[in-house]
Amino acid sequence: MTQIIKNIVIINPGMPPEEGWVMIEGDEVIKTGSGTPKEQADLVTDGGGGWLLPGFVNTHGHAGSSLLRGAGDDMPLHDWLKNVMWPNEKRFDKSMVEAAGNLALAEMIKSGTTSFLDMYHLHMGEFAEEIDRAGLKALLGRGMIGFGSSEEQKGKLSEAENLAAEWHMKGNGRIRIGIMPHAPYTCPPDFMLKAADLAAANNLLFHTHCAETSEETEEHIKRYGRHPVDHLNDLGIFDLNVLLAHAVHISPAHMDLFAEKNTAVSHNPKSNLKLGSGIAPAAEMMRRGVNVTIGTDSTASNNTLDMVEEMRMAAMLHKGSEENPAATAAEDIFKAATVKGASALQFPDTGKISPGWKADLILVDTSSPHLTPAFSERAVSHIVYAMKSTDIKSVWIHGSQVMKNRELLTLDEERVLFEADKQAQKLL
Ligand SMILES: [Zn+2]
Repeated sequence: MTQIIKNIVIINPGMPPEEGWVMIEGDEVIKTGSGTPKEQADLVTDGGGGWLLPGFVNTHGHAGSSLLRGAGDDMPLHDWLKNVMWPNEKRFDKSMVEAAGNLALAEMIKSGTTSFLDMYHLHMGEFAEEIDRAGLKALLGRGMIGFGSSEEQKGKLSEAENLAAEWHMKGNGRIRIGIMPHAPYTCPPDFMLKAADLAAANNLLFHTHCAETSEETEEHIKRYGRHPVDHLNDLGIFDLNVLLAHAVHISPAHMDLFAEKNTAVSHNPKSNLKLGSGIAPAAEMMRRGVNVTIGTDSTASNNTLDMVEEMRMAAMLHKGSEENPAATAAEDIFKAATVKGASALQFPDTGKISPGWKADLILVDTSSPHLTPAFSERAVSHIVYAMKSTDIKSVWIHGSQVMKNRELLTLDEERVLFEADKQAQKLL
């Protein structure tokens, strides 16, 4: 099927805006042009003069814990994990995780996320099915804590491997699988090495939390005599394709190592602030050539999956902490939330609106006071500093429309919210 979206302004990261149209065939953009299209298509959508952007890429989250939004606020990470998250998660059954997953998908589409990474330890196969039905793109991994007997370790690794065998590159390549040990402080070195072998043997992305809090980093140094980043480097982890979540408590030498090894970082500013974990040196990492991407982490520590909010926080935070308004430019943050995130998640041809690239698109209505004056030259500034996610009217992923005029087309929103409420009651 061919489609045209006309009467739009195309806003690409790093490129001048273009008033015109896009033509889509199947899952990719095949043509763009200025003015009015002369081409015919099976379906023509009038964009109403709005901005068409590539969809956002959320590079770190845990959708399965979405029912814990607002449970255990204002606690430090390790107390919160031990006293709120882990005991509640022990009570999760399949229908709770399913409701949480659908809730996260609905929230993500409604705030313009078209691709995301998710690490979770329960029912990831079922979540992959939900994602496939809802039409999103995801890089998924079985979250693994490496303590326990060698039998338990083996069980987790084989679940991760089975997930990859069943789902990697499925749904026309929309679903990818990664290997996701939870963190160096929860995974002993022998387990990390087994996880690394699995990633290497199957050419899968290796994803782990790292140096999120100073407490965890200091504990790690006490236990192993090495900073967690140096410890992972000693294990040869950075020879793999790696995306680290957080990287808050790191040194300039670690940043140079990431740049040299092409290790990407998921910067989660709101989660780090809310848990009092600190401020990752994201602007300095960018200056040193690290692929810094943006993630929300879970709704239990954020408390939204809204990439528009997250971009704004990432854009503002480092200006303040460095006392330097040029620490991060709007354009850098827009890139981090689109094309750079997609490359970290190894989604090819994703994050730009250009012939041969995947048609992952969001349409922004600019007719509100907070986006006026809506000069297209100021679009990236507005997207990062002024837009609200409710300005996003329509969303396409791989050419299929998943939201139209804020109505979800692949999920029954009323039912998703009802089920999430109902399942969350079980935790009260
Ligand atoms: Zn996390």
